Amino acid sequence: MVTPSDNLKNKYIQMNKKLLLPTLLLFTSSFAFAQDKKLIDNIVKEVNENSQLEKLAHELLDVVGPRLVGSPQMKQANDWAVKKYSDWGISAKNEKWGEWRGWERGVTHIDLVSPRLRTLEGTQLAWSPSTNGKAINAEAVILPAITDSVSFQKWLPNVKGKLVLISMNQISGRPEKNWEEFATKDLFEKYKKEKAEALKVFAAGIAKTGLNAKALALAIENAGAAGIIINNWSQGFGVDKIFGANTTKIPTLDLSVEDYGLVYRLAQSGNKPMLKIESASKEHGVVPTFNTIAEIKGKQKPKEYVMLSAHFDSWDGASGATDNGSGTIMMMEAMRILKKFYPNPKRTILVGHWGSEEQGLNGSRAFVEDHPEVVGNLQALFNQDNGTGRVVNIGGQGFAKSKDYITRWLAAVPDTIKNQIKTSFPGTPGAGGSDFASFVAAGALGYSLSSTSWDYGTYTWHTNRDSYDKLVFDEIRSNVILAAIMVYMACEDLEKTSTEKATDLPVNERTGKQVTWPEARKATRKGGL
Ligand SMILES: [Zn+2]
Repeated sequence: MVTPSDNLKNKYIQMNKKLLLPTLLLFTSSFAFAQDKKLIDNIVKEVNENSQLEKLAHELLDVVGPRLVGSPQMKQANDWAVKKYSDWGISAKNEKWGEWRGWERGVTHIDLVSPRLRTLEGTQLAWSPSTNGKAINAEAVILPAITDSVSFQKWLPNVKGKLVLISMNQISGRPEKNWEEFATKDLFEKYKKEKAEALKVFAAGIAKTGLNAKALALAIENAGAAGIIINNWSQGFGVDKIFGANTTKIPTLDLSVEDYGLVYRLAQSGNKPMLKIESASKEHGVVPTFNTIAEIKGKQKPKEYVMLSAHFDSWDGASGATDNGSGTIMMMEAMRILKKFYPNPKRTILVGHWGSEEQGLNGSRAFVEDHPEVVGNLQALFNQDNGTGRVVNIGGQGFAKSKDYITRWLAAVPDTIKNQIKTSFPGTPGAGGSDFASFVAAGALGYSLSSTSWDYGTYTWHTNRDSYDKLVFDEIRSNVILAAIMVYMACEDLEKTSTEKATDLPVNERTGKQVTWPEARKATRKGGL
């Protein structure tokens, strides 16, 4: 019902619209600020008092486990995430982007049976052929000192029926930090020299075969070996990196630095070490692969997008906890909280949980190819993918106006979190490393929320120790607050962001030349075959 006094008011507003506008704007912005504060307080409170991170981590990392591209566990994780989002009232779907070799890891058991008994610590590599439901009993041998490719070919028939150790035997299983801490300065120097020399000798030995690592493994396989044993030591206590096998018929296994050294020395001294190996896996043919995408639809500008981003796949030597379980649960928790306290965003909020980042950012590259409507209208994307630590670096990714936006959005983040973060502008456009680079290459504002390391590179990245216990939940909680607030601010920003590229890109220290914009690369849509 319209009263005479309302009519009068309307008339007054009509008449004085121009005059009133500055006052109204002032009123709106101070009102918006008051809303900010309440919303931000709500986000912080929810993160700290009702965190779902531990539960999400348990369900994903302990129950589902690692998420190798093409494995049934990857699909299980996709389905789990869709279910979680739907439980939170957020619409989500699995979007097919390609196909991959379907492979499922089974058990690995490795025992030393002669000259003494010991259960060895090791595991098969991803995509390793199985031992076909039975155990192999075979002698382990090492590569001899060879003079050239002819002598290697002459030796090769000796591998028939044997397990062949093809990695370097480390001169010490202690991390360099440990040597530095406890050895005298002279002894530490001596150790480093001996280690460098051993590496040189080993590399020269492999070079003399005339083969690279992959061709060497295949030559040994073709010569009738029973299996290949490697040690991809990650230079820390207890850690090996577990990647994919090069063999197609015989198993490839990684032994810990301690047990690899044990078997190696036994073979070297003529003690003929005998190993019993059972290594199971299943082939599932060619299987579809997916990104999980969830959405909270924007109310005023639904065709402009603010995205959260973290790859969902992992290597499978452990559970993929810090690579990238931590980024995954961070983005899921941020979405849950945004839906709860900011259910009607101005712009559309999307989250991308990408497949096959580990084989070359394939899921995100495919999304960029398949969704020009998102990429062309992207307000900003925030990706996290370097471990469990609190975010300490945000760069402008080479966009000329990044500083304006990032500074404005960060201003709303609590001091205790933002004071930890170093920013660099215009920054360098990311050419790879994680999924934000897929967007940057397409000229879209993809930002990396870069974390402090917690020894990521040595201890958890692609290792056999990347498990739940390595997560530092309070650091992830701080990242959830950051991500949720950045998304909120980017959604509410009065301006559409600019994708203008900076002309003052930094100089590459290695080449001495100014950095050029990275080129978009195509997703591998069919892989592992
Ligand atoms: Zn990663």
